Amino acid sequence: MKGFEFFEPTTLAEASQLFAQEHAQLLAGGTDLVIGMKALTETPQSVISLQKIPGLDGITTEGDSISIGAMTKVREVELSSDIQNHHTALAEGASEIGSVQIRNLATIGGNIAHASPAADTVAGLLVADAQVDIASADGERSVAIDELFTGPGQTVLAPGEIITRFRLPSPASGSHYIKHKIREVMDLAFIGVAAAVNLDNGTITDARIGLAAVAPTPIRATEAENLLRGNELTAELLQQAGEAAAAVASPISDLRCSAEHRKEMVDVLTRRTLQEAVARA
Ligand SMILES: Cc1cc2nc3c(=O)[nH]c(=O)nc-3n(C[C@H](O)[C@H](O)[C@H](O)COP(=O)(O)OP(=O)(O)OC[C@H]3O[C@@H](n4cnc5c(N)ncnc54)[C@H](O)[C@@H]3O)c2cc1C
Repeated sequence: MKGFEFFEPTTLAEASQLFAQEHAQLLAGGTDLVIGMKALTETPQSVISLQKIPGLDGITTEGDSISIGAMTKVREVELSSDIQNHHTALAEGASEIGSVQIRNLATIGGNIAHASPAADTVAGLLVADAQVDIASADGERSVAIDELFTGPGQTVLAPGEIITRFRLPSPASGSHYIKHKIREVMDLAFIGVAAAVNLDNGTITDARIGLAAVAPTPIRATEAENLLRGNELTAELLQQAGEAAAAVASPISDLRCSAEHRKEMVDVLTRRTLQEAVARA
């Protein structure tokens, strides 16, 4: 690991000013950053801990709306009864990260800011229509989660901008996340699919589908969502929705399998997640 300066600011403004400098990195849980620093893929000159800044962690509920602080551990997201009941796909995604030890360190803010297309909390946040609150020394702003990512490891965050919260406006009546992985434990998502639906007497009034690890950024399958809205989930509609989701995926071919096979898997997993989300609703 290369030498670096370590800072422990107690305010967001101070942290933002330090983070705006070149070659600076934030330390949340450290499960991505420290691994990267040890492997020398990350060589920050300054590391700014977020641990001593108050108000960045915890899950709060106000009416239908749930807010998750960026420094909330993914283990807390996994175990929260509010998240389990109202945003099941997100709780399931959090439960898929690494091991219990990792989940007790890793934060939801770090999982999203790291911007891996395969991050396990991202599909659940996509189908929750999450808003990402961002603060800097210049003020605050909010972006929709599907507008946060610009490429693998890349976001719209400007130098000095820190994610403070994720706001989930309204719950779906049923949602589900499937992580398709090669190894049973401690593996990154080969494909991640989340679906969330609202039903009224069997008719789907709203549907959201989030895809991870099948494109340079996590994406919503909006065409498939539009097909579902206003209809009952028949076998034919399920097939059409699966195909429409696969059509927006742009996965890579690698040694493990071809892009075509990955697309077929998106189709299959979208149908499975939708069926389960509707059953739960
Ligand atoms: C053994 C192991 C297994 C893993 N398995 C999985 C897995 O199955 N699925 C999965 O999704 N991930 C997995 N991970 C990765 C991982 O734990 C996460 O991505 C984690 O959630 C990152 O959060 P953190 O708090 O540790 O971030 P850190 O490592 O502290 O920070 C990561 C990056 O995010 C930035 N950052 C952190 N917080 C903020 C913020 N609030 N605002 C702006 N930028 C910020 C930092 O500058 C840094 O660049 C695994 C990691 C390990 C070591």
